[in-house]
Amino acid sequence: MDSIVGKYLDKASQCVKCGICQPECPTYIATGDESMVARGRLALLEAVAEGDLKFSSGIADRISKCTNCLSCVTNCPRGIDPVKIINAAKGDYFEKNGSDFISKIVFKYLGNNERSLYPLFKLMGMAGNLFYNRIPAEGWLKEFLPFVKNGIKKNLPQFGKRNLKDELPETIKVEKPKMRVVFFTGCMTDFVFQETGQKIISILKANNIETIIPKNLGCCGAPAYYMGDHKTTLKLAQENFRILLQLNPDYIIINCATCGQVLKSVYEILLNVNGDFSDFANKVIDIHKFLLVNKCETEDLQNMVGSDNKGHSATIKQLQKAICSDKKIRVTYHDPCHLKRGLNTYLEPREILKSLPWVDFVEMENPDACCGGAGGFNLKHYDLSLEIGKRKADSIKHTGADVVATGCPACQMQIMDVLNRAGYNRPVLHTVELLNY
Ligand code: SF4
Ligand code: SF4
Repeated sequence: MDSIVGKYLDKASQCVKCGICQPECPTYIATGDESMVARGRLALLEAVAEGDLKFSSGIADRISKCTNCLSCVTNCPRGIDPVKIINAAKGDYFEKNGSDFISKIVFKYLGNNERSLYPLFKLMGMAGNLFYNRIPAEGWLKEFLPFVKNGIKKNLPQFGKRNLKDELPETIKVEKPKMRVVFFTGCMTDFVFQETGQKIISILKANNIETIIPKNLGCCGAPAYYMGDHKTTLKLAQENFRILLQLNPDYIIINCATCGQVLKSVYEILLNVNGDFSDFANKVIDIHKFLLVNKCETEDLQNMVGSDNKGHSATIKQLQKAICSDKKIRVTYHDPCHLKRGLNTYLEPREILKSLPWVDFVEMENPDACCGGAGGFNLKHYDLSLEIGKRKADSIKHTGADVVATGCPACQMQIMDVLNRAGYNRPVLHTVELLNY
């Protein structure tokens, strides 16, 4: 427990057990268990650090079930960052006990670089298409399927197709560019939601922005970091940081909230590069914010969605056709935890959606409540993840929305699954996919 004792325990011991973190903690709401909220988790870790408790697998389990939603960080009146402490503890536990066999293999791949993830995603895509998608979720064969609950399989999007980076040149050049940006696609957009990536590139290109998608950029490291493998994350962070620093773009655009949070905040914890780091971190920007904070893009965006309703993108046309030709599409928005509380981006997606003439925007109840996706958490703790997701599905259902927009591919995947389970199948899209481009 050296890192906790050395770095964070003094902070953890300032917890006055007020419980303000309790009502919004998704794992507490889902379980009602005091050891599943920041206050309880910190108390367990303090007891471990003081030698009163052994760092058992039971404690590790409670720590690993934190979704990293940052709600406790935002709400704590004492300014404690329970997520930092919890993740440091995960790192200590991983260091001493390692991980399960599958995670070990995945992290070994991750630690090399994103190129080595390609065969892994291909294999998973093939296994999904040949095996998972064909086997019914009922009968004896279901025993061989992961992620089956109440006779329903997890809703998996198609992946294993050619990845986005291989489809595109490394630099998308334009004449007399007004700026030069890096688009940090992240693994999900590169391998699964390529349409979102294509849409972002079209928008940037049309706005006369030169876009670099470095082929040698690796995974941001989120899956490894949140599972406690901080060595793999550090390796990825050092390499990505070196590449991005060398390119020196005007902005580093992300469309995955977790990639953004990791680049800005986790890299700061792991890398020891103070001076350079704030320059770097200030360049990391979510696509919603990027489109609005840059004056040019704001004007272009307004032109793009402006006075008439013609020339809708394929997505809009398909949606209108599917929903009912010429009526407005009722859209609600889910705030990804890492986008709202991590990157302070929540007004921008709403501003964009409300400006679209074909969108009837409707706010859901608790739009910033965690959906339970949380990357690898969803795979490792599937039942708890679904329990948390039920609340999100209910909020969405109550809006009567035709479409759900969000700003994180991991949330997108989780919401698709929980809506399907709630019998409310609706398209779940990244906001940019609704833009008329
Ligand atoms: S809100 Fe902060 S001080 Fe209060 S119990 Fe939670 S972590 Fe402790
Ligand atoms: S980050 Fe979220 S899940 Fe984890 S302890 Fe805090 S509120 Fe609970």
